[in-house]
Amino acid sequence: MIVCDRCPGKAVIFQKYSGSHLCTRHFQEDVHRKAREVLRSYRIFGGPCRVAVAASGGKDSSSLLVILHHLFGHREDVELLAVSIDEGIDGYRPRTLAAASAVARSLGVEHLVVSLRDEYGVTTDGLASGGHPQGPCSFCGVLRKGLLNRTARDLGADALATGHNLDDEAQTVMLNYIKGDVDRLYRLRPKRAIPGMVPRIKPLRRVPEKEMGLYAILRGIPFENAACPYISRAMRQEVKDLLNGLEAKHPGTKYSIMRGFERILDLQPPGSYEAIPCAGCGEPSSNGVCASCRLLEQVRGEESL
Ligand code: SF4
Repeated sequence: MIVCDRCPGKAVIFQKYSGSHLCTRHFQEDVHRKAREVLRSYRIFGGPCRVAVAASGGKDSSSLLVILHHLFGHREDVELLAVSIDEGIDGYRPRTLAAASAVARSLGVEHLVVSLRDEYGVTTDGLASGGHPQGPCSFCGVLRKGLLNRTARDLGADALATGHNLDDEAQTVMLNYIKGDVDRLYRLRPKRAIPGMVPRIKPLRRVPEKEMGLYAILRGIPFENAACPYISRAMRQEVKDLLNGLEAKHPGTKYSIMRGFERILDLQPPGSYEAIPCAGCGEPSSNGVCASCRLLEQVRGEESL
């Protein structure tokens, strides 16, 4: 039996990047420590606050809700709310929404579901079969992000917490490098104060994806493991495979990518960003038309041809 480096208990994980064997208790403490350290940097939980948690029903967001409840559930001045977006993906989203609902219910956290169909009159299934030049993720991701922000703001949330893990973050950084999209890269800067935008926080951004899976299993957290049917069409999947290959050969690669990215951010002082209300919907935008309205205009234009 391989024992934990911190107690005589049986190790359930070997973290190649840290060289540590950890038992169930010390592994969970390690995840909580990483989340707490990230949360400290956001300075959201220093006083009374209401935090909307984007709940997709997957292992990351379901575990995030459990972790935030574990860390702050005892505080009467912290309110957690779960928010899910129904993008309209048959055979996939209904199951994940059921899982999200089960976790929220088990914690006594209010759970709100808003749909692209109700808000914008579209579904990701419809957009995927519409023959648009962009893949379905281009629409789905932008519309979901915009709707999450609006819903969190309408709920009076001080922050919107998402379950992005280390792998998600490293993939996003690499994708932006590959596409040469420096603007988007800088937009990953944590907690920018922009009028109309609820600050986004990513408490799990230092926890590898595999560890989030193990955490959810060890805690018995109900989650839906099915992948979105459109995921293989996304370039992100190729970057994910690439990074997993590198990580297997060179443990710590994903942490190195994030460390390098943070050093680049340090070299560039935060620029000023003036949010202009979108002419179509009033949401914050950089140039007077928000990304959601731009995409919806494109879809409606193509449909009318
Ligand atoms: Fe939407 Fe793409 Fe994510 Fe599926 S993989 S939920 S289509 S962004």
